[in-house]
Amino acid sequence: MAVNNKKPVKIGLPKGLFYFQHHILWENFFKNMGCNVVVSEDTNKDILDYGVKYCSNETCLPVKVFHGHVYSLKDKVDYMFVPRYTSVDKNEYTCPKFCGLPDMTMLNLKKQIKILEVRLHLDQSPDQTLNSLYEISDILNVKYNNVVDAFNKALNLYNEDQKNGITSLVANGNRMIAVLGHPYVIYDDYLSMKLINKLKSRNINVLTPINLEYETKRKNAYPFQGKVFWDTGFDNLGSAFTFAEDENVNGIIYLTSFACGVDSLIIEFIERRLKESYSIPFLKLTLDEHSGETGFDTRIEAFLDMIG
Ligand code: SF4
Repeated sequence: MAVNNKKPVKIGLPKGLFYFQHHILWENFFKNMGCNVVVSEDTNKDILDYGVKYCSNETCLPVKVFHGHVYSLKDKVDYMFVPRYTSVDKNEYTCPKFCGLPDMTMLNLKKQIKILEVRLHLDQSPDQTLNSLYEISDILNVKYNNVVDAFNKALNLYNEDQKNGITSLVANGNRMIAVLGHPYVIYDDYLSMKLINKLKSRNINVLTPINLEYETKRKNAYPFQGKVFWDTGFDNLGSAFTFAEDENVNGIIYLTSFACGVDSLIIEFIERRLKESYSIPFLKLTLDEHSGETGFDTRIEAFLDMIG
């Protein structure tokens, strides 16, 4: 299958936000249609600076950084892929910044880019997704059936990959720390200041929400089990209380971004319940564009000393 143009269409894939969980899905979706996928560089100072320049000051750090990634790609691609995630499962909603991401990006970059979006509103029905695939078929001049086929194949690959992250919690004699937070923070080496590597270099085992089963996180997401809630809220609440129950886990670090509305609520729930019902040490580290690595490292060292 190929796009019906002489040269393959270049699609920009910004390495921020949805990229960290779903890059396998989207990269393969476009490759399956014969497009060239151009992924932005890892986050760096220039990308952060572009993001700060083009985004409103009140926005959270990951959204600013996402804008920086888009800016870094804008002259290298024909279209920028910016999906619109509203709900990714039944009763699970994304934060408002994800719902309006294509509009926000377009406006902040003063219409310097052409956006392709796929809409995900799975709490309602797949119709919005199918309609957006139809629009992509029109824009890229690929038969609709081929677009749907490319999407389904990419989704199968993504689902296979998801099974590889689950780990059973087995201690090997070293300390074990759970790192919580949004994937685009904890797995972005620049934003997280390589927290996971720093812990591993001290011979500490690191667990994150992807090491737990989806159902386990939903079951333990006190007090929102069975209710309508944010998807990342379920993941982080459920992970916090699952890890807190496990005697192999020696401490929990939550890496959050200043101005994240979701985290401001769920961290409050986590801190209160951990104080009331558990004895596990908990450290919250808040990041913004002015965060310095020295102070960050000092707080980690102090936390590790406390754990012993
Ligand atoms: S969940 Fe928080 S960090 Fe993520 S985009 Fe929304 S406000 Fe930003």
